[in-house]
Amino acid sequence: MADLPSLRRVLDEWGEAGQVARFWWRDDDATARTPALERLLAIAADYDVPLCLAVIPATAELELNICLGAAMPQLTLAQHGFAHVNHAPDGEKKSEYPAHRDPADVAAELRHGRARLQGLCGVGPALFVPPWNRIDPAFAPALRAAGFAALSRFTDREGGFKGFVMLDTHIDPVAWRDGGGLVAEEVWLGMLHTALEKRAGGRVAPDKPIGLLSHHLVHDEALWNFIEDFVRIVTDHPAGEWIDAGEYVTMREVL
Ligand SMILES: [Zn+2]
Repeated sequence: MADLPSLRRVLDEWGEAGQVARFWWRDDDATARTPALERLLAIAADYDVPLCLAVIPATAELELNICLGAAMPQLTLAQHGFAHVNHAPDGEKKSEYPAHRDPADVAAELRHGRARLQGLCGVGPALFVPPWNRIDPAFAPALRAAGFAALSRFTDREGGFKGFVMLDTHIDPVAWRDGGGLVAEEVWLGMLHTALEKRAGGRVAPDKPIGLLSHHLVHDEALWNFIEDFVRIVTDHPAGEWIDAGEYVTMREVL
């Protein structure tokens, strides 16, 4: 099993510079209690690492609640769109919330989705994760009205969502363009370096956590190993720290 020596080296260097790299972990597309979901939750529990699970409300099953309830206190529920359906015009990048959609339809959908998750899991999520990490800023008022305080996409997005807590992801190890599997080492290392450099250079607040993004339903063994190694190494390293997404949002919200 690979042991990600390059991740250790990055953290060593970061620690030698007197820094602590802050991470958070988001996993997308949960709807049901599958063996893959159980494996994901077991990794989080084994290493006692906070996990944010982005659940698709329209297709979420009741038994998901049983699974999550038994899992761990450090689990943050996020709403992953509504039905994970693409509404983008042909030729454009996939999005459930492209600009042309009727804001009233979107608002109703967001409210309905959040109410469904609240019914299933007992809590209404504060964090919204748009499918394909895309949502047009025109829907910021609808998000707010539905009860969301925070938004999570990919790579330090800003703009158009004033007043929202932004908690983005940065390291996506799935080789989507190649049909799946683990990306090459230089790809995920590049994502990590970019995120760290932005924080070191002041373009992003230094304490803004770097997001590890996983998709439990598509993981092969190489991806499972990568995720587990990443989680273990950050947990064990003195220059690594895990941030609880729920706590982060709550704390930033009141500031
Ligand atoms: Zn998704």
